[in-house]
Amino acid sequence: MNVYDSEQIAARLAALGYQQTGILEIADLVIVNTCTIRAKAEQKAFSFLGRLAGLKIKKPGLIIGVGGCVAQQEGEKILRRVPHIDLVFGTQAIDRLPLLIPKIEDKRCRIVDVALTEKSDQPAAFSDRRLDGSVSSFVTIMRGCDNFCTYCVVPHVRGRETSRHPDHILEEIRGLVQSGVKEVTLLGQNVNSYGKKEGLCSFPELLSCVNSIEGLLRIRFTTSHPKDFGSDLINALKTTEKVCDHIHLPVQSGSDRILKRMNRKYTRALYLDKIMELKDTCPGIAVTSDIIVGFPGETEADFNETMDLMKMVEFDGLFAFVYSDRPNAPAVQFKNKISEEKKIKRLQTLLELQENFTRMKNQAQVGSVQPILVEGISKKQSSGSVNRPQPTVQWTGRTSTNKIVNFFHNDNPQNCADIFPGKIVRTKIEKAYAHSLWGKPVEVKSASAGLKGEESYAA
Ligand code: SF4
Repeated sequence: MNVYDSEQIAARLAALGYQQTGILEIADLVIVNTCTIRAKAEQKAFSFLGRLAGLKIKKPGLIIGVGGCVAQQEGEKILRRVPHIDLVFGTQAIDRLPLLIPKIEDKRCRIVDVALTEKSDQPAAFSDRRLDGSVSSFVTIMRGCDNFCTYCVVPHVRGRETSRHPDHILEEIRGLVQSGVKEVTLLGQNVNSYGKKEGLCSFPELLSCVNSIEGLLRIRFTTSHPKDFGSDLINALKTTEKVCDHIHLPVQSGSDRILKRMNRKYTRALYLDKIMELKDTCPGIAVTSDIIVGFPGETEADFNETMDLMKMVEFDGLFAFVYSDRPNAPAVQFKNKISEEKKIKRLQTLLELQENFTRMKNQAQVGSVQPILVEGISKKQSSGSVNRPQPTVQWTGRTSTNKIVNFFHNDNPQNCADIFPGKIVRTKIEKAYAHSLWGKPVEVKSASAGLKGEESYAA
């Protein structure tokens, strides 16, 4: 969501005449877009802001702004803590940047704007978004959250849940497709409750509308809350052609006692039932999740229940974090905090288990032919893992199940002469690594064919 917000910030600054630069020293304006979901992210933001002091001394006209969730949470305290900051703007103040920045330019004043309102639907104002030529783009479909998990700051820094009107979303996606985007990831804290409060269409209905946009090849979405994840979405995953074979369904813990303390509003049994229905309806779908270890009061028995759940589900991938106290989150007050040492040990144990599953899932792909959406040249193209003469361009893309596949462009020049970002390429998976797959292109597909999942096994 911060990536999406940064794009919006850039678009609004471009409208004021600013251009992006990769060289900090020559910038006239620096915006730091922050995250406060964990303590470490916040520390990093303040450390970076501190380092900007020297730049401001050398260039007194420099304007420095802080946006995002830390700005929303800390407000004017940031001006006191970081004296060289000119602007603090909250999560709903991005639209007001075209007014705030000129005011600072003219009056050299310091401004704090962290007002939160219920209304956060954006009119179709995204046609001016700057794009970097990537084939994939985020699109926010809703903002804020009503769930109040006890460890989480999102409802406090992003406000209550509101959904954007489908017309605005569809208009934005059509604009993105016109500018070359082939894949969108629809964003919300809980996409399953999209439109319910406002009486708009349901999330599966929205998926169906997005699916009909010509030129768009793939649809992803995140995040689904297990309590609202129902059969309608499971069926949409199966039947909606462009929706990818991947779901991110955060479980957070495998212990009912901890889930209750987290205020997650589902049980371990309910989560496992939904996973079973999902896997029955959509065989081959990839499932990833989030887990927090060391939540206050988590015993060895609770932790073992989480490990046990992981063994039952066999996630394709996992984002695992140690619990950290966040300001305003109720769990700050909870007793029986777990020591850092124990938290780290549990995290390592859990990640070791997950690594086995990730490798196993990747290995299972070897021999299959997968449609890959080509994203660009691989960052690791000089990697020595595959013995090839240089210079050979190594490309990268993703399967429908969101696994990274690298391959050489000219492995099959006869059938694959026109590989470039945005193309769907049928690729035979030859090798599996810890975090990626290696393949050989078989054929470049026509725009609309074979967008979903695995096509065949060669052996
Ligand atoms: S569902 Fe829970 S964890 Fe997710 S954003 Fe809302 S409060 Fe935070």
